Amino acid sequence: MNKQTRLILLTSAAVIACAASVPLIQLLQWKPGDHNRPAPVHVTPALPGKAPSDAVSLFNGNDLLNWQDAKGQPVQWRVGDGYFEVKPNSGDIMTRQPFGDAQLHVEWLSPDPPHGTDQEPGNSGVYLMSRYEIQVLESYANTTYPDGQAGAVYCQYPPLVNPALPPGQWQTYDIVWHGPRFSAGGALEQPATVTVLWNGVLVQDHVTLTGPTDWLKRPPYKAHALKEPLLLQDHGSPVRYRNVWVRELKETLD
Ligand code: MG
Repeated sequence: MNKQTRLILLTSAAVIACAASVPLIQLLQWKPGDHNRPAPVHVTPALPGKAPSDAVSLFNGNDLLNWQDAKGQPVQWRVGDGYFEVKPNSGDIMTRQPFGDAQLHVEWLSPDPPHGTDQEPGNSGVYLMSRYEIQVLESYANTTYPDGQAGAVYCQYPPLVNPALPPGQWQTYDIVWHGPRFSAGGALEQPATVTVLWNGVLVQDHVTLTGPTDWLKRPPYKAHALKEPLLLQDHGSPVRYRNVWVRELKETLD
């Protein structure tokens, strides 16, 4: 390799690194196929009904001690055989532990038979950082506005496709979440992004959120902590949940 070629390659790498995320910058520190590069840590995989070994499990099948209501009190949602269920009009529940960037797995089931139409049947929601909702709704036979159906980033992005299962069947969300970043003064530095697989099908492909989700609105971001509780919504329908777990992701934006 002559000097000029080397210079071009180094310049290209520097340009990529400047525009790139931390993982790409880290990649440039290693030669391809370098045995000295740190090996990935072993974890047990996510098997049906089981969290991977490095996940925080948010439901042990018996109680909801990892959760609290908006006032910090024990939750009133019902625990059944291996699942828990929204107690309608008892309020949302949130995790006692806050989470930042994360991989999240949630299994949910909408009631069979469904009750109501549009935004009523099986309505609940998975709120990242208590503010950003991935909608839960009966969306197999029920129709509503596209950015309000299951798999939507509520009132922002409809799912790419609709892989809904009928009411009464367990469904899965696998979510990769990168929360927003704010300056010390509260200005938005980096918006949140989310990727969602619903029943194993990609429905949100690294979309950028405009701010918190809200009913028929798109409010702007308001500064909040780097880690905030995960919230499940009580929208008056006895939706069930099970096998909820979170893997915290390493900081990738600093
Ligand atoms: Mg909802």
